[in-house]
Amino acid sequence: MDYEKLLKKAYEKIPKQSDRGERFNPPPVDSFIEGNRTIVKNLNAIANYLNRDINHIIKYLSKELATSGTIDGNRVIFIGKFKNRLVNEKMQQYIKEYVKCKECGSPDTKFEKEDRILMLHCMACQARRPVPKVR
Ligand SMILES: [Zn+2]
Repeated sequence: MDYEKLLKKAYEKIPKQSDRGERFNPPPVDSFIEGNRTIVKNLNAIANYLNRDINHIIKYLSKELATSGTIDGNRVIFIGKFKNRLVNEKMQQYIKEYVKCKECGSPDTKFEKEDRILMLHCMACQARRPVPKVR
């Protein structure tokens, strides 16, 4: 086997998890407008990628878009017409506020309740900060 092939094989052996820390590339929101509703096709995948509860994301987007959202099988339906670009902007805001550490920028964080305050705890640098409650 030549070197190129060996190299390729070596790359394939690297577990997918290991490049998560270095490269943070959440899938963009895949949505379309149908009648007076906006259908998001991949919120499940995004929630999985971000390691967040999909219901929390739906709550946030619903509040930001001033509407309501419901899960329908693999899709999420928001009442109203929202351009894909707008939904993506809101998703970026969510990531900034509820996923990324403000100290080191790592997306490897998790929610923790402290008393009754929701805290974002960074697994990379151990920083903690309170996050606003989504109503
Ligand atoms: Zn951090």
